Amino acid sequence: MKRVLAAVGLVVAVLLAVLVLRAATVKSHQLQAAPVKDLAIDARAAAERLAGAIRFPTVSHENGQNVERVAFLGLHEYLQRSFPRVHAALTRETVADYSLLYTWKGSNPSLAPILLMSHQDVVPVEPGTEKDWTHPTFSGLIDGGYVWGRGALDDKVGVLAILEAAETLLARGFQPQRTVYFAFGHDEEVGGHQGAAAIAALLARRGVRPELILDEGGLIAEGMVQGIEKPVALIGTAEKGYVSVELVAEAAGGHSSMPPRHGAIGKVAEAIEKLEDHPMPAHIEGATKRSFEYLAPEMPFVPRLVLANLWLFAPAAERQFAADPAANARIRTTTAATVFQAGIKENVLPHRARAVVNFRILPGDSIAGVLRHVRETVGPEIRVSATGVTKTEPSPESPDSAPEFALLQRTLAQLFPGTVVSPNLLSGGTDTKHYLGLSHNVYRFLPIRMHAEDLARLHGTNERVGVENYGEIVRFYAQLLRNGVGTTP
Ligand SMILES: [Zn+2]
Repeated sequence: MKRVLAAVGLVVAVLLAVLVLRAATVKSHQLQAAPVKDLAIDARAAAERLAGAIRFPTVSHENGQNVERVAFLGLHEYLQRSFPRVHAALTRETVADYSLLYTWKGSNPSLAPILLMSHQDVVPVEPGTEKDWTHPTFSGLIDGGYVWGRGALDDKVGVLAILEAAETLLARGFQPQRTVYFAFGHDEEVGGHQGAAAIAALLARRGVRPELILDEGGLIAEGMVQGIEKPVALIGTAEKGYVSVELVAEAAGGHSSMPPRHGAIGKVAEAIEKLEDHPMPAHIEGATKRSFEYLAPEMPFVPRLVLANLWLFAPAAERQFAADPAANARIRTTTAATVFQAGIKENVLPHRARAVVNFRILPGDSIAGVLRHVRETVGPEIRVSATGVTKTEPSPESPDSAPEFALLQRTLAQLFPGTVVSPNLLSGGTDTKHYLGLSHNVYRFLPIRMHAEDLARLHGTNERVGVENYGEIVRFYAQLLRNGVGTTP
């Protein structure tokens, strides 16, 4: 007995030593760089120009119908007026009626170009919430140190900041060596099937192969990553796929006084419950795993111990993540019932009930895999099919070992010292899904500073960006261009 205890004790001691050693020796992935001092931006004047752009209600409507023609054309004219140097030095093409492609020709045609992206359209205001806004949605007001209005975060901020950065560099006589493209779609909020898809196809036809594609999607999280007090710049290196699945059940209709045991509504309701209770399996892999490798070294000992030893703790970590919706979304394909339709009158049994369940697909899973999982889970009584315009497989993972990722890291280290940088899996989708064939180095990031409570402003009420932060965003794009495509000034 004693000998067994001693053996167990030895195993435990060795195990502990391994865990502690691994936690103690994780290497930091952060870059250091000297701060940049010679890049002054008049944040207030830049913010005024952003506010002006917000006043054009370039709303994307469901299914891409009824494009807000006047608003888009007004915005285009406004951009031309606001950034005269850009519109003199760069070529601007209108693609698919409202999307914009700018080309800033580099001095060295043998170098691969880079492509900066954003989108001009915004989501509508949810009816009934208009009065909750501190300032009207499209007022484009500056108040209390913020620019208020739809598009301040998503994603006129990107369009305006990119142009502002270029205007600033042109004023200083900057000439890029690489060719730089700016691509601003007009229907990202409804899938980008007109705008981004057309620009990507046009670039492909011209044989353009960008070395770096940078779009919206990542942000600077403040106080959002447990265990790290410093701000964390989350660079999207992959994004989840997307499919909506329709569930339909049919049943004998008729008078509600003699109902069957399960009517159409009951069948669909049961199917949804089964899907919620049987989610697709969790995996800590790819961009999520890489993010832990970047974040762990910056954490205190205990969380570092766990993240540095996922070979042992993965099952426990997965159980813990599953309890938190944001964490859960990073480790599995999520299941969200979003539509339920049936019935017309309280005393009539419906013939048919219908629900839609939206899945955000983890890299490694697939649309076909989701459909298989749904069919197996709900059983033969439910008709299952993919629905909706947007069906997207998960993106490939862009490497954090690429020089283009290091370029983003270096730019952040220069302008946001003390900020931790990490790759990240995006649970939402961006227009980059249309560009994946053009480059391996597709990243999603824009240095908007956000606290957890600000997340509800995205597509929600009181969307706003800090004036000072907006200045930082402009500086980020300008410095990125200086680092990435040209020489001084
Ligand atoms: Zn967006």
